[in-house]
Amino acid sequence: MIYNSTRNKNLKLTATEAILKGLSDDGGLFVPETIPHLKSSMKELSELGYKELAYEIMSLFLDDLTEEELKGCIENAYGDNFDDPDIAPMSYADGSYYLELYHGPTIAFKDMALQILPHLMTASAAKNGLTKDIVILTATSGDTGKAAMAGFADVPHTKIMVFFPDGGVSDVQRLQMVTQKGDNVSVVSVDGNFDDCQTGVKQIFNDMEFRALADAKDYRFSSANSINIGRLVPQIVYYAYAYCNLLKNEKISENDPINVCVPTGNFGNILAAYLAKKIGVPIDKLICASNMNNVLTDFFESGTYDRNRSFHLTMSPSMDILISSNLERLIYFISGCDDKATAAFMDELAQKGSYTITPAMKEGLKDFIAGCASEEETAGEIRKVYNDTGYVIDTHTSVASCVARRLKESGSLSDIPMVIASTASPYKFARSIVGAIRNDGSDMSKDDLTMIDELMTLTDMPEPNAIKEIRHADIRHDGHISVDEMKAAVQGFLN
Ligand SMILES: *Cc1c(COP(=O)(O)O)cnc(C)c1O
Repeated sequence: MIYNSTRNKNLKLTATEAILKGLSDDGGLFVPETIPHLKSSMKELSELGYKELAYEIMSLFLDDLTEEELKGCIENAYGDNFDDPDIAPMSYADGSYYLELYHGPTIAFKDMALQILPHLMTASAAKNGLTKDIVILTATSGDTGKAAMAGFADVPHTKIMVFFPDGGVSDVQRLQMVTQKGDNVSVVSVDGNFDDCQTGVKQIFNDMEFRALADAKDYRFSSANSINIGRLVPQIVYYAYAYCNLLKNEKISENDPINVCVPTGNFGNILAAYLAKKIGVPIDKLICASNMNNVLTDFFESGTYDRNRSFHLTMSPSMDILISSNLERLIYFISGCDDKATAAFMDELAQKGSYTITPAMKEGLKDFIAGCASEEETAGEIRKVYNDTGYVIDTHTSVASCVARRLKESGSLSDIPMVIASTASPYKFARSIVGAIRNDGSDMSKDDLTMIDELMTLTDMPEPNAIKEIRHADIRHDGHISVDEMKAAVQGFLN
């Protein structure tokens, strides 16, 4: 299997080279030259457990790892650190199937990929004769940093340092980060906002003198962001697993189609669903759900991507994004793998903030339907599902649930099972959830842990370990620095 850059087809890398590199030097994203196809029938695959299915699917894409190497990565990633033996269990409520992707250590779907990425990186390093230790630097607005730390903690030959904006994350997010265990992790708060942290990390990455210094010490910098194919490929697995689950439980017959609805931000999760369809999982429509930052909804309707609009802070913060990086891969595929055209669109996006695809490319979007939900609709959907069934969904999942419900009620979808990607535990966003369910103007100004207690009284969903831990865990990281001190902090950490 060969990987090309979306902006240069002549570039040819193996899967492990692409994992190590992350992003191509030309700014493009790595994509497989040909899309593989499942080797077994869905019926056969439905006999497999999560780890076995993960091997069947990931080995199609990461074919330069041996069976033993890839199985080792999978074994390390999907074990006791998930609080459900099914890894990605499914719950039926109010007419839809909720695929719960939040049973990992940080109770959000980023764990599905970030639990395995560190192992894929170290296996890739070994495969390519790289003896240097991998150093991950990440700026975070809350969730990704914690999920990355939880993945990399105590993985041999790796180190991770996370910067978060002081005052820019929730109490729970801050506690989750500053209590992180592991001898190879460090986290500091920065006097600034998320952009300051991000810019600081980029400057360190691009500082040649600093890189040379790190090189001499046998360190190699890398990033854990969502454009790495080592994050994309593991996400394909759970869409196949969801299908297998329905088949095994006789909710569908073999080859019956299903619809999938995904709450979308950076377009990584739904792109994985698209690839699941391409490799042969019988998915009919891919429904792309956005919050008020509905740049994707407009794109799928009009063919114009336009980021020139106001940015909204919503109760589904992980979807508050105006540039969905992974969309570049879809643009490349629907252009018939035209690297020049893709590069030109991305250049237009960088220069003027918008681009319009061709009518021929628009044809390629017919697998997708897009929709968005307002804040009121998102809260209303949480309340409706709770009142109808007692099942509690988080704010991000609610955006998808709301869009799926609207499409079903409008009669524009065939009557087949709807799988909704449920991307976070309600306990992660307890304040918004309790507010939505109560809807009575009661006091919402209490601290996060009190809101979690209130959520516990509303649901019989047990409190996850991730929350129990932060109630008592020791604070292990209390560093606080200015933006100017970030480089010195990394130096100190590497010494
Ligand atoms: C990251 C995230 C999303 C968005 O996923 P993308 O792959 O960026 O589209 C949705 N919900 C939650 C809870 C997330 O953490």
